[in-house]
Amino acid sequence: MKIINGRQIAKHIKSDIKTKIKNFKDITGKTPGLATILVGSNVASKIYIQSKIKACQEVGIQSFHNNISTQSSQDAIIRLINDLNSNTLINGILLQLPLPDKTFTQNCINAINPVKDVDGLHPVNYGKLSLLKSWNDIIKENVLIPCTPLGIMHLLQYSNIQLSGKTVLIIGRSNLVGKPLAILMLSQNATVITAHSKTYNLDKLTKIADVIIVAVGIPNFLNKNYNIKDNTVIIDVGINRTVDGLCGDVDFNYIQNKNVRITPVPGGVGPMTITMLLSNTLKAFINQNKINL
Ligand code: NAD
Repeated sequence: MKIINGRQIAKHIKSDIKTKIKNFKDITGKTPGLATILVGSNVASKIYIQSKIKACQEVGIQSFHNNISTQSSQDAIIRLINDLNSNTLINGILLQLPLPDKTFTQNCINAINPVKDVDGLHPVNYGKLSLLKSWNDIIKENVLIPCTPLGIMHLLQYSNIQLSGKTVLIIGRSNLVGKPLAILMLSQNATVITAHSKTYNLDKLTKIADVIIVAVGIPNFLNKNYNIKDNTVIIDVGINRTVDGLCGDVDFNYIQNKNVRITPVPGGVGPMTITMLLSNTLKAFINQNKINL
């Protein structure tokens, strides 16, 4: 087993982002601004927000945190989003999910100005992503793409893992991870299989996959019940808090003697997700200031 070190790759990309931000500041006197919104006091969400704010500080993005009460109505959240939409110091808005009342989610996301939608979940950005064909289009166009799938694509690219013609099995079909990842994988000419909770015979699919992405949210989900061929690349997206600490969706005891490459948890996809948030904030800043690169 070989480890794909997401933390190291993220560090490299972050240093590039930091340099670009400094250069833009020298030229324009401006720095990108990211607003974070936390509704309520979910412990895991608080930890995620803190690491995002810390990452912003590291690269020179100004962060503006907004913590509002668990009881906030949908109207109150949308009012806050509207204020942030019209604040010129703010280039990106991140609404931390899940919201205490999940039925508010899509209406609140829809209220974010698409040019500030650094999570890439607004229907305008999601729709544009679906229409783009090649990876070059995706990089060139001003579309904001969901951070975790985008981070996974960069992780694979930095690790020189070619996707063209390869069979990629994505386990999980969420709007946040599996679905946009399938579109991104297609843009790099992979043959994509998306599996989910209703998929039959998953063990037959893991056997043929060159790349397996596990985004299920169940500790030890990918275990000895699933055959994996030699040289498979495994991306473990899961973040599970157990009594033994943080773990992913892959059973490391099963994998460790296999001839595969894998991202660890922590230190794999997580740091890449945060780095893509910084990258999307910088992209939003560049788009809004019409800076030519
Ligand atoms: P989700 O709950 O929205 O989706 C889970 C998916 O798993 C669903 O599509 C479901 O169909 C599938 N699934 C459930 N049981 C299954 C089964 N038995 N067989 C096959 N598929 C099954 O979760 P999500 O938001 O996509 O997140 C998934 C995991 O990734 C969670 O642990 C989450 O914390 C983690 N996550 C990590 C990052 C990161 O930056 N590392 C980012 C986002 C999510």
